[in-house]
Amino acid sequence: MSLHQLSLAQLTQGLASKQFSSQELTEHYLARIQRHDDKINSFITVTPELALAQAKAADEQIASGQASALTGIPIAHKDIFCTDGVKTSCGSKMLDNFIAPYESTVTQQCQQAGLVALGKVNMDEFAMGSSNESSFYGPAKNPWNLEHVPGGSSGGSAAAIAAGLAPLATGTDTGGSIRQPAAFCGISGIKPTYGRCSRFGMIAFASSLDQAGPMARSAEDLALLLNAMSGFDEKDSTSLNEPAPDFTAQLNQSLKGLRIGLPKPFFDERLNPTMGDVIAKAKDELEKLGATCVEVDLPHVRLSVQCYYIIAPAEASSNLSRFDGVRYGYRCDNPYDLQDLYFRSRSEGFGDEVKRRILIGTYALSAGFFDAYYVQAQKVRQLIRQDYLAAFEQCDIILGPTTPEPAYKLGEKSGDPVSMYLGDIYTLSANLAGLPAASIPCGFTEGLPVGLQLIAPYKQEAKLLNVAHQYQSVTDWHQQVAPGFEE
Ligand code: GLN
Repeated sequence: MSLHQLSLAQLTQGLASKQFSSQELTEHYLARIQRHDDKINSFITVTPELALAQAKAADEQIASGQASALTGIPIAHKDIFCTDGVKTSCGSKMLDNFIAPYESTVTQQCQQAGLVALGKVNMDEFAMGSSNESSFYGPAKNPWNLEHVPGGSSGGSAAAIAAGLAPLATGTDTGGSIRQPAAFCGISGIKPTYGRCSRFGMIAFASSLDQAGPMARSAEDLALLLNAMSGFDEKDSTSLNEPAPDFTAQLNQSLKGLRIGLPKPFFDERLNPTMGDVIAKAKDELEKLGATCVEVDLPHVRLSVQCYYIIAPAEASSNLSRFDGVRYGYRCDNPYDLQDLYFRSRSEGFGDEVKRRILIGTYALSAGFFDAYYVQAQKVRQLIRQDYLAAFEQCDIILGPTTPEPAYKLGEKSGDPVSMYLGDIYTLSANLAGLPAASIPCGFTEGLPVGLQLIAPYKQEAKLLNVAHQYQSVTDWHQQVAPGFEE
């Protein structure tokens, strides 16, 4: 097998036994980025000098016997994480000239774990979108079919892994942005419990929903990367104030007696029927491993889209007020007064989807509409949370599709924001409730990958990854390679 098809454990083993060095591994990935990224546009910035310097340091650490499980392994970072001295664009013209003056906690933790940063990957502008088409740098493409979207907003992360341009990537998930692109590109991704990974230095979209997480080919790789990315951070006031457990600890537990909940609103008329068949087979596979299934009701989850598309834009409209053309980022030419500076910097610096969200959010928060929209949405959010708490009385984990349909064609939904928003029906509720949720590959339809979504109770990422890993021990969907990217 080629280097880019090895699991993380195999890579660590290869480094430890000196089959290859971190410098060789890093060069291998840099060469693949050069060879293949023209086709999929997954990187916004590649940092070869930095990567090779980090690889050299990693090799020294390995030689001195002080390596961790991740030392010397390459990673790509979503361009939403501030990286000291490296352009951090957030997929926007607004930050096209922004060199971050500090490092985000997550990328710093990755560095401390010895990971080698290859560069920054493509994303929807300010993480608003489900197809990567709102990126200022043009969309990333789906390696399984270059005419199709890779999903979003962490589409660059997912496409880079699916094409074998990085073994690991960071992503963020406000309403599905780790899980949905993972599903579309046939890779694995987990959005941890809200607060598990620090938001410090992660450019804010909707702060009460934003959560960073790992993306990789397998659940085992996710567990290893999540170990490095998580933990309390005093620089984030909503950080979970407790030590993170070892997320690999439960991977090999048997699934005998596991109770899987199948929520009614996830298996409704909105689910593409062939996708439904693929999901049903995955469920059968888990039953063969000893799990039993129960139907659960999440009555308010059907209101997720309405609820999320008030709360997320409301928070975004407030978070994005900092981009005013004064302090950093894009500034218009020759403003004639301060109003003109604000007005034109924001008009020229933001793309359409971002402006749409700012308008919706400002409207929902304005006097006269606040109670009708924002307060109401917060109430619905509580009901959704309670639905999940009640469901987890009856089951240990919830299973469903990640998306209602596979990756669609570029341009197919970009002119119709509401149809794009409706693609998020199955992912949004986990963010609204703050629960950990993952997507893992479970088959194909029309030649495109299908994602299986698993949602666990609060702080039970280890349990969730156990279920995913057991499934991946008896299936090989996560090992499939997109045609054209084998070599
Ligand atoms: N697709 C959703 C949106 O457009 C979620 C994005 C995300 O999770 N960052 O808001």
